[in-house]
Amino acid sequence: MTSGIVIVGAGECGTRAALALREEGYDGPVTLIGAERHLPYERPPLSKDGMAAETVGMKLIADTVRLQEANIDLMLSSEVVRIDRNARTLALGDGSLVPYDKLLLATGACPRRLPMAEGIGGCVYLRTHDDAEAIRTRLHPDAHVAIIGGGFIGLELAAAAGQRGCKVTVLETQPRILMRGVPAEIADVIAEVHARHGVAIRCGVSISEMIPDSSMRAVSLTVNGARIDADLCILGIGAIPNTEIASDSGLAVENGIRVDENLATSDPNIFAAGDCASFPLAIYGGRRVRLEAWRNAQEQGALAARNMLNKGERHSAVPWFWSDQYDLSLQIAGLVDEGVTTVRRDVGEDAFILFHLAADGRLVAASGIGPGNAIARDIRLAEMLIARGAKPPGDKLAASDTKLKSLLAA
Ligand code: FAD
Repeated sequence: MTSGIVIVGAGECGTRAALALREEGYDGPVTLIGAERHLPYERPPLSKDGMAAETVGMKLIADTVRLQEANIDLMLSSEVVRIDRNARTLALGDGSLVPYDKLLLATGACPRRLPMAEGIGGCVYLRTHDDAEAIRTRLHPDAHVAIIGGGFIGLELAAAAGQRGCKVTVLETQPRILMRGVPAEIADVIAEVHARHGVAIRCGVSISEMIPDSSMRAVSLTVNGARIDADLCILGIGAIPNTEIASDSGLAVENGIRVDENLATSDPNIFAAGDCASFPLAIYGGRRVRLEAWRNAQEQGALAARNMLNKGERHSAVPWFWSDQYDLSLQIAGLVDEGVTTVRRDVGEDAFILFHLAADGRLVAASGIGPGNAIARDIRLAEMLIARGAKPPGDKLAASDTKLKSLLAA
């Protein structure tokens, strides 16, 4: 049996890695193994346009023709259950073995589950296209949808369900929505737009009980002692990295499969990237992070591919994330919690950007919100300033008539 490079996980990261191997000129065998039954597809539309549309479409990352042209051997509906690092083989769920020379783990993440909700048919999670279809068919006009978790997925789903005519209540245990990594000023704008669209957001609540109705499809929640009846309860309470096969094989795991700046694990023949990996972020002095972000999955897939071909490139990208809700787009470049002071810049009437500066004046993050593409250009320029470790003067950042490009040149 031929070995070559094997990738576990046919999601954003794994598929980009497989394609990048060919773009880099590698002509050995490439095997892409995915547990899902679908061709590799994009997840972000599942909670946005896809959920608001009549049917959940599927935006493919690569279709069969492209994968065949690139001579990538795609194995769908195949779960890797064990890695034998000594023999350099993978065991699949059906008992078959796949040998590898180099291995990339791009296993992604799965929804964090709430023990109280286990076994209740009215409680669902969103990660895959199949999850999205199951949710979409239950978004009937006038259905009451309770969403637990005021994070990105919960809020995007709240917007989509509202657009489908559902009555939506978002329940968040924290004192405000988007507590993790999003400034309060931006979270307030998002809370307001949801309120305007009739979505009820209740923060600081505690859910003590969940009781299924006799059909097992609806559920009653006890929230702060009072009862809320929901036709559907969607849980969006975070994701946990898929690290089991890595830890079972003795690889180091630390909030994700632990990799170095080249995305290599503690075994030099095994790399990990995307949502499943924790890595040192060079621009913040090697702070170890795990990102759940689409562009990171793409970039790390391509970087891991190059490093499996011995390019020895270090990860140096600035984290970037976006979310769309109604006509608003939010973008964040860098890590907001690295900043100690904030400078606001208004971009037109309804859009603004917050620049987050470290104690030494370095720009460490930029977060913004506005309709459509209003903030996209400035966030892109901010990202370049962050990558350079620039220390732009706060008054210049705040002044809307200062072109950020001029600060880049400075
Ligand atoms: P995944 O996409 O999770 O792919 C991993 C794949 O590996 C899965 O198909 C899984 O089945 C497979 N797998 C796992 N274990 C095994 C195994 N043992 N054997 C075989 N296969 C295995 N990011 C943004 O920046 N902006 C957004 O607006 C945004 N929206 C999102 C909306 C939704 C609904 C979701 C779920 C995510 C969103 N994201 C967004 C995050 C983004 O989609 C992820 O960061 C990205 O998909 C991560 O890619 P990945 O390849 O690392 O993991």
